[in-house]
Amino acid sequence: MSPIDTLINSTIRPDVRAVAGYHVADASGFIKLDAMENPYHLPQHLREELGRRLADVALNRYPVASYASIKQRIQDKLGVPAGHDVILGNGSDELISILCMACAMQDRRATVVAPTPSFVMYQRSAQFAGMDYVGVPLKADLTLDLPAMLAAIAQHKPALVFLSYPNNPTGNLFAEDDIVAIIRALDGFGLAVVDEAYEPFAQQTFMHRLPEFNNLVVMRTVSKLGLAGIRLGYLSAAPQLLAEFDKVRPPYNINVLTQVAAEFALDHVEVLNQQAAALRAARADLTAALARIPGVEVFPSAANFILIRVPDSDDAHAKLLSHKVLVKNVSKMHSVLTNCLRITVSTPEENSTFLDAFAASQAA
Ligand code: PMP
Repeated sequence: MSPIDTLINSTIRPDVRAVAGYHVADASGFIKLDAMENPYHLPQHLREELGRRLADVALNRYPVASYASIKQRIQDKLGVPAGHDVILGNGSDELISILCMACAMQDRRATVVAPTPSFVMYQRSAQFAGMDYVGVPLKADLTLDLPAMLAAIAQHKPALVFLSYPNNPTGNLFAEDDIVAIIRALDGFGLAVVDEAYEPFAQQTFMHRLPEFNNLVVMRTVSKLGLAGIRLGYLSAAPQLLAEFDKVRPPYNINVLTQVAAEFALDHVEVLNQQAAALRAARADLTAALARIPGVEVFPSAANFILIRVPDSDDAHAKLLSHKVLVKNVSKMHSVLTNCLRITVSTPEENSTFLDAFAASQAA
């Protein structure tokens, strides 16, 4: 064994060595419909104004540790209930990891439960924090298996249950009553984390229900709203819980450029809201067009992506790539997703380029 392999074996955890890295496809030159990004930019005059604001940022200083002004904007503009603070993450990815780090016990292995398939970082973060992860399969129609979820909660007494609302990669909203049943079942020992990354497209939220449940955590991101590049997530919960999570958060995790850009964008949040409305309309058009293609099953979506099942997903994916269109082939993620592709909803132009290439791939 080479000296560096010996070094790695003696320092890096076996379970870390065993996993593959988080794969991100190289998208240069492609129509990018694989990562649920908002395809629209800010209008030119706002970009110029943002440029001027960023030019004035004191890059030599650490951020102001309280993050009071950005938090205030989030509370004012994004529907956080009065009296509820937020904590910020470098993307909601970091918040998932913070939640796991805060809940991983030292004297026994704590457990994370989530429906599966769902967002992969729930499992990854649980693992890296040293927690057990229990995935509860969705039903064949991709709805939540509530009895199985409740059984897993009773058996494993999880510290955390992650519920993606709507769910990635299936796009559907789990029934509100089922989520409430899960929050209640966890009462006294576990936290229900409702991950509302796609809230701008679902327009359904548990945020206003925070005062009802002391074990509810609502997590969001500005990524899907059109600011994926600045990396900013936020979550709210009972103040006592937030104070604990905040101890785990790296003190300056949100950089000054992100902070100023987010404050500026939220001062113009109506622009982002209009873009989300355009994407909701485009989702309806794309859903209808896909449903007209013979052999394609389209699952209802409350997000900015659509899950479809095709006769041969590997073939469709390869043919789309040859047309320079990148979608996500999720068929190997879980058996309920066999032959499924996930397509991000984009501009009418990009959607129609995709549709033409996809229709041709299905006809051939
Ligand atoms: N939650 C869900 C359900 C997601 O699908 C994603 C990203 N695709 C995230 C969280 C992470 O988002 P970000 O780190 O960009 O805030």
